[in-house]
Amino acid sequence: MSAPVFPDLAGTTALVTGSSRGIGAGLADALEAAGVTVLRHGSPAHAAAEGLLVADLATPEGVEELARAVAGRTDRLDLLVNNAGVELPARLAELDAAALSRTLEVNLAAPLLLTRALLPLLRAGRGRSVVSITSIHDDVPYAGNVAYVASKAGLEAATRTMALELAPEGIRVNSIAPGAIETDINREVIEEMGRERFESWIPLGRVGEVEDLVGALLFLASEASRYVTGTRLLVDGGYSQALLRYGLDH
Ligand code: NAP
Repeated sequence: MSAPVFPDLAGTTALVTGSSRGIGAGLADALEAAGVTVLRHGSPAHAAAEGLLVADLATPEGVEELARAVAGRTDRLDLLVNNAGVELPARLAELDAAALSRTLEVNLAAPLLLTRALLPLLRAGRGRSVVSITSIHDDVPYAGNVAYVASKAGLEAATRTMALELAPEGIRVNSIAPGAIETDINREVIEEMGRERFESWIPLGRVGEVEDLVGALLFLASEASRYVTGTRLLVDGGYSQALLRYGLDH
């Protein structure tokens, strides 16, 4: 077996929210392969018996419940990955207040409240890294998905402010902004648009896979990024640059 790229990760502990499936599950697998003890989490749609910490991140009480469960498992946390997210697409004209609130609770409020609740454990860790999964749509407009865009833009802005506030304690706060990574969240949309047409819009010529995000996370989790905080790492095959330059019609 080849030597691990980031050996300092071995023996550390991480929480990955929303690691029951999709991007979170893939990132949790990659961290485990790097020697990290990973606490996995899913919504109450899952039974705790699946080995997950189960909590609903759509409410502050659920966030507190998750923080308590984490504290019951470990006395230090080296890495927090704020990954859980929802997408409830609607144009402004059809925007439903409940869907807007849910999107903002899960995608924006929960990462902030969870990071706050886990500060004592992060202070006790040696990695001291928080990574939030935002989106290219924290920046690039997305007609038909206004609540999601607002939630991700908020999380991106909050990431930079948390980085400032937590830097004196040696806690680094960064984000990864993925482009289109094929998971349950977008599989139907990709098929509806037509895969070939969609891939023609992405400069690197393909929809991303969960594995495409692994290098960015391992870097931001490890000492290799020890002087990096308040940064947004775009992992999108160039998609956002093409969208900004040409729109969807090129
Ligand atoms: P996914 O396959 O739909 O998985 C979403 C994860 O979030 C699941 O683990 C889900 O748990 C959890 N979750 C959702 N609502 C929750 C709640 N109320 N309480 C607790 N957990 C909840 O989505 P994904 O594609 O892996 O996306 C992961 C993250 O990446 C999201 O923040 C998403 O916005 C972001 N992202 C994705 C893409 C992409 O192209 N896929 C691009 C940019 C950004 P359950 O299994 O229990 O439902």
